[in-house]
Amino acid sequence: AKAAGGNTYRFFRQEMLERTTRRLTLEIDLRRAIANSELELHYQPKIDLNSGGLTGVEALLRWRHPLHGMQAPGEFIPLAEENSLICDIGIWVIEEACRQSAKWRSRGLDFRIAVNISARQLESGDLYQQLCSLAHLHGTTPAQLELELTESSLMENPEGVTGQLNQLRQAGVRIAVDDFGTGYSSLAYLRRLPIDILKIDRSFVSDAIADEEDAQIIKTILALGQSLKLAVVAEGVESRSQAELLQTLGCDQVQGYLYARPMPAAELEDWLLEHQE
Ligand code: C2E
Ligand code: CA
Ligand code: CA
Ligand code: CA
Repeated sequence: AKAAGGNTYRFFRQEMLERTTRRLTLEIDLRRAIANSELELHYQPKIDLNSGGLTGVEALLRWRHPLHGMQAPGEFIPLAEENSLICDIGIWVIEEACRQSAKWRSRGLDFRIAVNISARQLESGDLYQQLCSLAHLHGTTPAQLELELTESSLMENPEGVTGQLNQLRQAGVRIAVDDFGTGYSSLAYLRRLPIDILKIDRSFVSDAIADEEDAQIIKTILALGQSLKLAVVAEGVESRSQAELLQTLGCDQVQGYLYARPMPAAELEDWLLEHQE
């Protein structure tokens, strides 16, 4: 028994050591990635369900790793969120979105870009200042941007972020609550927080056809949106039948593979040419 315990302990230490090594390697890698422009934004259209027109795009981060190929954010954002790295990445994302926004605007393509923001970045100080100066530096305006914050991160410290959100909103930035329905929002806070949009989490959309309970949750979110005068976007729409159900329920905006996957800026431009007249 003693030997087995010893082995378990050794094994455990080995695990810990490997995890720490992986984390440190990833951290060094990511810092290099920012410096070497290995990060890029892909853009996914948001669609008005009634007109079929574009209402904006969501910017989603990708990392073109020189050895491991394209990495989705799920592979590295959680680690970056454990330290200040997420703030550096977040600023890069906002600056890149501003650059792209200015480019598109100069060519008459006039739609909002939504970027995902981690709560830590909002709490860590002057996102408002940074965003405004980056927008002006690159020749666009804060009003071309939207920030998406997850429901759970917003509700962790609603008072702590309200001040910054108010400033951002006064500058014209729109605020969306991401993954809505998965956290535990208090109605009192929802009413008080300066927000414009609720994004129904993909998990409800994907089962809404088969699962009456999920359809019910979507109805409730739509009713909530209506009473708080918030726009509601459904994410992760993959099938015609999901889109039809959402339209019947009165949802006005959708996003998902049924319409388009996230794509590099140049591809989005081609997509726009094909899909809008
Ligand atoms: P999210 O904000 O909820 O983004 C939606 C995710 O669903 C994206 O995954 C998108 O590619 C994917 N998606 C879109 N339509 C569909 C669909 O019809 N079906 C399915 N199955 N998936 C769909 P992605 O790009 O891997 O991003 C994952 C998460 O990583 C995002 O979830 C967001 O929380 C985070 N993230 C992405 N970019 C950033 C960023 O720049 N900063 C921060 N802090 N987080 C980011
Ligand atoms: Ca999002
Ligand atoms: Ca989401
Ligand atoms: Ca999600």
